[in-house]
Amino acid sequence: MQIVIIGSGVAGVSFAEKYRTLAPDDEITLVTREHDGYYSRPLLSRGFSKADIEQSIILKPFERLRENNINVLCGAEVTAINRAEKSIAIEGACQEKSLPYDKLILAQGSAAFVPPPFRPYGELFFCLNSLVDLKALRKFRQSFLNQNQHPDWAIIGGGLIGCEVASDLAAAGDKVTLFHAMDRLMERQLAAEDSASLLKVLQDSGVNVLLNQAVQAFIKEDGKVCVRTDVTAEFDRLIVACGFKARTELAEQAGLETGRGIKVDPYLQTSDASIYALGDVAELPNGKLYAFVLPIRNQALWLAEFLAGQQQAPWTPPIFTTKAKVHGFEAVHPYNV
Ligand SMILES: Cc1cc2nc3c(=O)[nH]c(=O)nc-3n(C[C@H](O)[C@H](O)[C@H](O)COP(=O)(O)OP(=O)(O)OC[C@H]3O[C@@H](n4cnc5c(N)ncnc54)[C@H](O)[C@@H]3O)c2cc1C
Repeated sequence: MQIVIIGSGVAGVSFAEKYRTLAPDDEITLVTREHDGYYSRPLLSRGFSKADIEQSIILKPFERLRENNINVLCGAEVTAINRAEKSIAIEGACQEKSLPYDKLILAQGSAAFVPPPFRPYGELFFCLNSLVDLKALRKFRQSFLNQNQHPDWAIIGGGLIGCEVASDLAAAGDKVTLFHAMDRLMERQLAAEDSASLLKVLQDSGVNVLLNQAVQAFIKEDGKVCVRTDVTAEFDRLIVACGFKARTELAEQAGLETGRGIKVDPYLQTSDASIYALGDVAELPNGKLYAFVLPIRNQALWLAEFLAGQQQAPWTPPIFTTKAKVHGFEAVHPYNV
């Protein structure tokens, strides 16, 4: 059987490795636009206080997967799924332009969500969603450090990623202002008491936290970026951290059922019996996207067993908690995930 996987995050790689152990004779091909190997996405938000992050973030070079008889096509963008032919179209560094599959595993993850009013100003802000993003941010930051200066950042969004990045940049010595539209930080995940203690931890670390500040627009002036809210303030650069958006485009173009994510049944099967989805991109029948490493790994191992005929019961989410990687912060109450 020919198994093709799109995406080399925790979903795609964990599935490939587990399936390899269960079905040694099947052909497994993993297609990814990444170049650097399989890396830890959670560590991205510790990318400023750790000097050697660009190397230490790589959990596994692609060569290690190839040694394990998993064919990896890297630097390769999947541009279409042809369901009638059961093949995918590929563009990029690899020779293959099309690849047939018996079973296709969609593990494309998610992109940073950029609110529509910000989209025309792409050159004025960064997002932090991939290793490529982190390298771009670090390069920009380094140009200040080379002149013995630290950049002055505005972060838009006081959710999990915005708070983590604000904390890490402050720990690395930068000036940080965090704009949040709501009246408390991480309001979707934290109890009010924990939001209050998170606010104090960030303020104590030097972050200027501005609550109830819905950012309306950006403008560039004399090399600085101005953020317009109730007041107008100037920064060296912005980071937009307004949540994530499942990468559903390929599935939509192929006519699969999609909502917030690619809709799957309790067996992680999409509306096409030959195509499965897992990880950030998959929307379960309860409407949830399980966008955390622990449940995604659990999905990947479950799907490998299911497709290898070793599992009949549907996937059920494991009990798990998560933690904001804000320096010096520990929530008292469990998170909503
Ligand atoms: C800054 C940050 C901090 C986080 N911290 C935590 C944390 O502390 N704890 C936690 O549990 N979770 C955390 N998360 C969430 C967690 O990282 C994700 O839920 C998880 O990595 C998703 O894995 P995935 O394999 O589904 O997708 P991804 O990791 O997004 O992998 C998808 C891969 O598919 C590739 N791809 C997409 N489309 C194509 C295409 N058309 N062709 C080829 N390749 C393609 C992408 O390049 C990517 O490599 C964090 C996320 C971020 C961004």
